[in-house]
Amino acid sequence: MRASGTGAATVAPKATRSSATTSSSSCSSRGRFRRGRRRAATVASSRWSFGEGRDVAVKAGQRRGRGGGGGGQKSPFLKKRLRLRKSSDGVSHLGSSLKSRGNRPFPGPPKGQGPPLRILPIGGLGEIGMNCMLVGHKDRYIMLDAGLMFPDFAEIGMQKVLPDTSFLHQWKDLIECVIITHGHEDHIGALAWVLPGLDPSTPVYATKFVMNLIERRMKEYNLWNTSRFKTFEVGQRFQTGPFEFESFRVTHSIPDCIGCIFRSESGNIVHTGDWRIEEKPEDLDGDAFDRTTLERIGQEGATLLMSDSTNVLAPGRTTSESDVGLALANRMAGHHGKGRIIATQFASNINRLGLLKKAADACGRKLAFAGPSLAQYLDAAHRAGRAPFDPAELLDIEEAIDGYDANKLVIVTTGSQAEPRAALNLAAFGASPFLKIQPDDLILYSAKVIPGNESRVMKMMNSLAGYGCEIAMGRDENLHTSGHAYQEEQKEVLKMVNPDNFLPVHGEYAFLQAHAAMAEQHCGIKNTNVIRNGQMIGFGAKRSASQVGELSSLAKVVGNVKLFSFYNDGGKGTGTSDQMQLYERMKIAQEGIVFTNVEVMNRLASKTKAKAREKVPTGIQVNLRITARAMWIDEGRLISEMNRFVKTRLKDLPLNSSLNEIEKVVSEELRRCCKSHNNKRPEVIVMAHDSGAGGMSSGGGAYRGRRPAGRSGAAQAVKGQQPSSAQGAGAKGPRAVYKPRGVGSSGKNPRESPKENPTAEDLDKIEWP
Ligand SMILES: [Zn+2]
Ligand SMILES: [Zn+2]
Repeated sequence: MRASGTGAATVAPKATRSSATTSSSSCSSRGRFRRGRRRAATVASSRWSFGEGRDVAVKAGQRRGRGGGGGGQKSPFLKKRLRLRKSSDGVSHLGSSLKSRGNRPFPGPPKGQGPPLRILPIGGLGEIGMNCMLVGHKDRYIMLDAGLMFPDFAEIGMQKVLPDTSFLHQWKDLIECVIITHGHEDHIGALAWVLPGLDPSTPVYATKFVMNLIERRMKEYNLWNTSRFKTFEVGQRFQTGPFEFESFRVTHSIPDCIGCIFRSESGNIVHTGDWRIEEKPEDLDGDAFDRTTLERIGQEGATLLMSDSTNVLAPGRTTSESDVGLALANRMAGHHGKGRIIATQFASNINRLGLLKKAADACGRKLAFAGPSLAQYLDAAHRAGRAPFDPAELLDIEEAIDGYDANKLVIVTTGSQAEPRAALNLAAFGASPFLKIQPDDLILYSAKVIPGNESRVMKMMNSLAGYGCEIAMGRDENLHTSGHAYQEEQKEVLKMVNPDNFLPVHGEYAFLQAHAAMAEQHCGIKNTNVIRNGQMIGFGAKRSASQVGELSSLAKVVGNVKLFSFYNDGGKGTGTSDQMQLYERMKIAQEGIVFTNVEVMNRLASKTKAKAREKVPTGIQVNLRITARAMWIDEGRLISEMNRFVKTRLKDLPLNSSLNEIEKVVSEELRRCCKSHNNKRPEVIVMAHDSGAGGMSSGGGAYRGRRPAGRSGAAQAVKGQQPSSAQGAGAKGPRAVYKPRGVGSSGKNPRESPKENPTAEDLDKIEWP
């Protein structure tokens, strides 16, 4: 039984509306925009005033034809920056993410059996990121979020870690819809890989702003389909999958965040999404944390609560965004007449952008964005009627830097985490084509250094400081507040909902444990559960008061599925760690790699057998071309040593040795030499061929010239096998071997018949693809 996209829309006609319809309605969009602007104006006049800097320079605005009537128009700058880059035809980016490891059983109890309410976390437990889970009633499930995680080892080419939903491909009939809690990458970033594994009619629900973000990503991967993606208003109730779904407003660090209530005949499940309690929403976008609904569900009764554990170790409460806005404004006012202000923040924090704009307005400064993602998020918010200001009010960054008064300018940049290609990081190292740091700049660091990024952020800040500019950063500056609740907020929600069971989510394993302990010790919650990704936990129906025993439901682990993380290399490469050869990438990065081309000069054909009691002569002579990469070669001495090691050993090898034997011996000697000379164990790739059977052209390092055609290790790679040297390396998994795409034009096997090997002339006639 599944609810088709159309069916779901029919069941809840008011609650589910095609996002395409919404976004294409320019009339309603303008209406929403006006609302956004009105709020901004009210707030700006309510609290902040500064005595100077009110004479707003309009030079750039006038030049670009902006005046009072320009609102709602997309600036040419924004249009340029919002151009969509297609990354896939809808399938090619999936790599191996759907094909592999798909024959796993569904981890739940046998059909029709087991506890009715079920949770299967696929990602997000025991880690920060990659949030994705199944929430089920009996044998029908909905998927909550499909996020990615940023890997620790971006240095070896991985850009995304994706949750393992490949096993769901064969169980897609069980998944009846996808619900997204908010627009952060750790909640929507994996959709392009997860959705193709589900039924094409399975609807995806999100609020308007979030859907705008999803739309952009789906279009990038050619997966956008207006009938499948449905928006809903916060607070609306509708039936989807096995549940009656109700969302409630939570505050976080991006607009339009929801918590979820899943009602069923067997009990209610509450999921908070990512949240903190903003106590001064009237200074921001007006969205208040919905305590009323949480209290109501507390009275109604919740079988299970799942809540965000990110900041469980932080005592007290988070500070208000509004206070951050004041700190930003004070800092800006203090830099009056002294030069430019460069602020960096998370691009998705729209409220923060609004605060910067208000502070800039109050100081008579204009905003310009450096970094396309800022414009993308603001545009998504603008189209959802959630932008704090019209993107058309932004200055073009290049024009602003060239011709605008530095004392009237605030540049907002990406790169708070020193991402290699982000605007601030490029500027810090003098690599930005337009943004050059000046000694009279003030840098406002309005973000948190995410654990793991400390050293590169510090390098960036050191480099910025080298320009002599002023930097405002650190706790005392109060230029940032977390988007995740601190302990006192977490306790408040636990007490409000007072669930029968508590399952901490969204956090490292230690955080989940601490959150569970806090619920037991401080909030009177008796049943807490800490589980890991892949464990399905089930909850029995709530017992009525007349039944004997405690008024609670029992939780137990009812299934387990082995999960693998999938890695994406930023392009179309997606696969497990084995498939993406992470082990080899790290080994090469740490130990280096040696390529060797072995041209054997005097080998007898392998078939040549010595007569009885007659010894085959020894002394294989070779021409070696050795190339070492990613390692210390001691100004070439290592290469000479390797030559010596190999040639000495080959002197003892019989002349009728096979090429495989020669490759094996050579790779052993190369490894032995590296171990003794520089104590490294590099990857070693050896390709042996008989003289005249092909080989590398002269000049340059190995593999730069013509491709070899001999049936050596390389020729084995053509047949889908590994060269013997690679087999001897002792490493697991497929090797990144060099694969020639042609063989000798004679069509004969040069290994068996060295004399008939193709000549250099023959090789020239081959058309290499
Ligand atoms: Zn979030
Ligand atoms: Zn999150």
